[in-house]
Amino acid sequence: MTENRELCKKREISLERADELKSKITDYLEARENIPKGLFMDDQFKKSKQKILQLFGASEEDWKDYKWHLKNRIKDIETLEKIINLTDRDKKHIREVSKKHRWAISPYYASLINPNDIYDPIRLLSVPTGAEIVEICGERDPMSEEYTNPTGSITRRYPDRLIINVTNECAMYCRHCQRRRNIGNKDEHRPTQIIQQSIDYIRDNPEIRDVLITGGDPLSLPTNRLEFILKQLKSIPHVEYVRIGSRTLVTLPQRINDELVDMLKKYHPIYINTHFNHPQEVTREAKEACEKLANAGIPLGNQAVLLNGINNHKYVMRCLNHELLKIRVRPYYIFHSKHVEGTKHFNTSIDDGIEIMEYLRGYTSGMAIPTYIVNAPKGQGKTPILPQYLISRGKDYIMIRTWEGKIIKYENHETKDFKELIGYN
Ligand SMILES: *Cc1c(COP(=O)(O)O)cnc(C)c1O
Ligand code: SF4
Repeated sequence: MTENRELCKKREISLERADELKSKITDYLEARENIPKGLFMDDQFKKSKQKILQLFGASEEDWKDYKWHLKNRIKDIETLEKIINLTDRDKKHIREVSKKHRWAISPYYASLINPNDIYDPIRLLSVPTGAEIVEICGERDPMSEEYTNPTGSITRRYPDRLIINVTNECAMYCRHCQRRRNIGNKDEHRPTQIIQQSIDYIRDNPEIRDVLITGGDPLSLPTNRLEFILKQLKSIPHVEYVRIGSRTLVTLPQRINDELVDMLKKYHPIYINTHFNHPQEVTREAKEACEKLANAGIPLGNQAVLLNGINNHKYVMRCLNHELLKIRVRPYYIFHSKHVEGTKHFNTSIDDGIEIMEYLRGYTSGMAIPTYIVNAPKGQGKTPILPQYLISRGKDYIMIRTWEGKIIKYENHETKDFKELIGYN
């Protein structure tokens, strides 16, 4: 009888707790309704796509061909204003920005813009605004990559891994790009000789076990050129795996075609990290591209940049991470944005990032929680920033704070000699 009453009591407490937990997610669920999510906007995107195809006199087949998109990147006002609404002021700004910073938008990415919304995140990420030229301070090379380049087109900042930069071309030139100085005015794949020097450096330095191929966007290289690089890296015994950093999954998912995937599969282990910043970028076509890669055994990660007016909101970031997991992409990093010339309007306070992290842990799956990173000045490395969970410590305890803000004492013991403990000494 008492046992039964005990059981009832436990059930009662559990139900109360469940109600309390439910109340902790209602405001997110309400907010989520109003966050544009690409997977639910197919009708709008299809309409824009039809308009663009008509404008270019192109076919559905062309749309599926990434080379068509690259060849037809939108880079003049006359074409752009037929796709989205531009005021005279907008056009004047674009003209002025063009003198200083390059812009180009893949027809696919342009089809994701809501033509009538000047605050549309896709538009802000791709169409130049006057903010890029109002102030000219900001650094060219905030990570001092130019001082960490031992040879070829390598950036080496860590003991066991490095970056090879293979091109400066991208499917779309992001307005927030932190590597703007590389983008320049024309597309240039790195000459074979520079690539060769980089690969030789890796071959000569056996502690390098992890190589990141980056750009620009390495998937703007023709498949056979990329294969030339992968094949050589694969032949170096101490290179344990290769990572490719590409934004084409977001800006040109058509690039992920069977030819590319069949080639990549030959060079496992391969990892790809991409760069989604907003749930509106997570579209049906992006999902198809990610599925192709995941099905070929390539794990996918996401490196978002924390951007003012785009994703510096706890619920937008939570929603983004959920949309990513749905398309088999694991959130990896959120980068704090640096003061790069022409991108200052996108910079946020570190507080925004810490608040985002605060409202991830506990509220959602650990799988949906990336690491928030500040890049230490002068290329001194990625540094994680977290809300404070360790509040204080004494001789044999620590005070911790839970995700709900409860402060709890937790006993702490020193680590004893293991061999002594099991009695073999
Ligand atoms: C970001 C970066 C890496 C990779 O860092 P991980 O934390 O391992 O993802 C490697 N080299 C350089 C120069 C980098 O900037
Ligand atoms: S894809 Fe990457 S390198 Fe290219 S413009 Fe965008 S942020 Fe810069």
